[in-house]
Amino acid sequence: MPIDATKPYDDSNIFAKILRGEIPSTRVYDDEWAHAFEDINPQAEIHTLVIPKGHYVSWDDFSAHASAEEIAGFVRAVGEVARRKGLVEPGYRLMANIGGHGHQEVPHLHVHIFGGEPLGPMICKHWK
Ligand code: 5GP
Repeated sequence: MPIDATKPYDDSNIFAKILRGEIPSTRVYDDEWAHAFEDINPQAEIHTLVIPKGHYVSWDDFSAHASAEEIAGFVRAVGEVARRKGLVEPGYRLMANIGGHGHQEVPHLHVHIFGGEPLGPMICKHWK
């Protein structure tokens, strides 16, 4: 079920638990600003999630309220993870789902990194 991205942050969400080490994940990267781990249900050969260390529900919340340092640190971490995965050549895709129409399921901002194979067109036009 998609979440309501306008609700306040609730730190009982699954990614907050991963950040606190309360549930296992396959760690890919960690620094002061971001944590990256493999998606439990990969939709491509490579499907990695990058989340900020701060408590932000969505891209909307993050872009409106995060500090310049947090934003810079997170954006750099996303790029660093993709480079470490060897994705710059041949290429990759980033995605952030926001709220209902974006079909966001976990209410802690996450950027999906997809790669490792040709990914096809940007959005499936026949999803319904
Ligand atoms: P969203 O639809 O919110 O953008 O994507 C949520 C993503 O989180 C999905 O791709 C889903 O497979 C992944 N996910 C959900 N629960 C877990 C979990 O417990 N561990 C990991 N590693 N990924 C999860």
